[in-house]
Amino acid sequence: MNLNSVQVKDLLLSVSHLFQEKRDELAQLDSIIGDGDHGISMARGAKAAEKQLVGMGDNEPVNEYFKIYGRTLIAEIGGAMGPLFGIIFTEFGKSCRDAQTFGKTEFINGVVNATDKVMDLGGAKRGDKTMVDGMLATKDALTSLDVSHLSFEEASLIAMQSSKAGLEATIDLMARRGRSKFLKEKSIGHPDAGATSFHYLMKQIHLFVTKKGDMK
Ligand code: ADP
Ligand code: MG
Repeated sequence: MNLNSVQVKDLLLSVSHLFQEKRDELAQLDSIIGDGDHGISMARGAKAAEKQLVGMGDNEPVNEYFKIYGRTLIAEIGGAMGPLFGIIFTEFGKSCRDAQTFGKTEFINGVVNATDKVMDLGGAKRGDKTMVDGMLATKDALTSLDVSHLSFEEASLIAMQSSKAGLEATIDLMARRGRSKFLKEKSIGHPDAGATSFHYLMKQIHLFVTKKGDMK
């Protein structure tokens, strides 16, 4: 099963609605060990991206929707998180440039390449208590399996579950990046906000693919 242009646009609209809905919850998480702006930044970026999507036609090349979405987050959120979260979408765009559909292969390649790019750009390593921990858990799960027999639905389920495990593992970690690192030991015992956002993105992709996809 692969998503076509109309479905990718719908998927991204659903992602933008999700981050507007999660604004207060994500802000609350960031307020415990950060400065409390994560939910507000993500919602602001999502709203701007939604506006861009609505202004696009329904049959643009699939990669264009991802590219515009990522670029809008980068421009609108700014700071560190804009480029880091925006990369996920620009990498999904690059992965489906040739296929012009978004399916299992493009999804997995996008997650793998986005993880590497986020680590390169942000410098966070495994265990630093950032969204990289959620991304690496997902990348590891998707690349340690023989995915050839899996459907997009199954691969996205694995991504949803492993990103949740990666997020939960951040609770016991001490922050070494971003603003939370100044809290040192006090950052232990709370989940990372960025890893939470990454999990919500993986979950939304899975829910979209299983509920609305054109099963083949
Ligand atoms: P800010 O840190 O500028 O307040 P946000 O609150 O929007 O930005 O985002 C905080 C999240 O950013 C953290 O929860 C963490 O997951 C992520 N983050 C911070 N620094 C890095 C980094 N160097 N690499 C990857 N992710 C990071
Ligand atoms: Mg913050």
